[in-house]
Amino acid sequence: MSLGVFISVGAWAKPTVMIVATGGTIAGAGASATNSATYTAAKVPVDTLINAVPQIQDLANVKGVQALQIASESITDKELLSIARQVNELVKRSDVNGVVITHGTDTLEETAFFLSLVVHTDKPIVLVGSMRPPSALSADGPLNLYGAVALAASPESKGKGVMMFMNDSILAARDTSKRINIHTNAFSSQWGALGTVVEGKTYWFRQGVKRQTTQSEFNIENIKGDSLPLVQITYGSDSMLPVAYDAYAKAGVKAIINAGTGNGSVPNYLVNTLKNLRQQGLIIVRASRVPDGFVLRNAEQPDDQYDWVVAHDLNPQKARILTALALTKTSDTKEIQRMFWQY
Ligand code: GLU
Repeated sequence: MSLGVFISVGAWAKPTVMIVATGGTIAGAGASATNSATYTAAKVPVDTLINAVPQIQDLANVKGVQALQIASESITDKELLSIARQVNELVKRSDVNGVVITHGTDTLEETAFFLSLVVHTDKPIVLVGSMRPPSALSADGPLNLYGAVALAASPESKGKGVMMFMNDSILAARDTSKRINIHTNAFSSQWGALGTVVEGKTYWFRQGVKRQTTQSEFNIENIKGDSLPLVQITYGSDSMLPVAYDAYAKAGVKAIINAGTGNGSVPNYLVNTLKNLRQQGLIIVRASRVPDGFVLRNAEQPDDQYDWVVAHDLNPQKARILTALALTKTSDTKEIQRMFWQY
């Protein structure tokens, strides 16, 4: 890990916001200004990102840490744990009021949800990315960064947990996902935004009710090593084969998230495969490939009878994160189901 630290001079009364840079498009570089979608992610270092938006120094004393320089699709549990540990150390510091994490948008939602589950703090943690690289016409990164710093610096953000800031919207870590892969309004939640930032001021409209940060039973400080229990996702469609499930089982996965069609449905010709895997000890979680709504327990399948878990409204990739964390504590399906109701 390289530590590029940039310190600005500001009024002592200003809050201090740490920017933890991990890469992504917000740190990308294209060949020309018209390359809004063709570019290399994770090129620009954190001090350049900070210097490009000098107005953030009016909001806070902003300092940067280069935690990673990576396109977020290449993040694994190892990087996830590393980001969480670095953020956890920062929020413990009395001279830090909030943290902004610049991140690729592809798996920003996983990192945000993971941090919301394992970092115990009432200080705001804000993940931000961009859809266009800094080199593009109408790059969205600078204003996203400005809003993210405003959000992390605001006293009103205390106790609001882990948030994302994209396209003017303050979004909850647990239920926001990347739903458009080409436009700047890429992120949304079926339950709506928490608020918005306009001209560096936060405006709030809702608050989440699910457990996170200080309310979470998971804690990065209790997780050892640089891997999590292995959990993989299978994607539902018509005409499926059982081989993917069996291959995952052979590879030693502890749980399979079945991103089923509709209400987390399982085709009749695959039910026995999943029942057998459960009998072998794998956790089976029924999620849905449909972005909105939630999977109803015992509706499409008799979950009580098969001892399966439902992901509720968490999408498959978030269900993977929660299941992996759950497995650090228990393999009791009743307990894992309780976690899905609560987080
Ligand atoms: N795929 C890259 C990443 O997730 C670039 C996409 C982006 O950041 O918008 O880091």
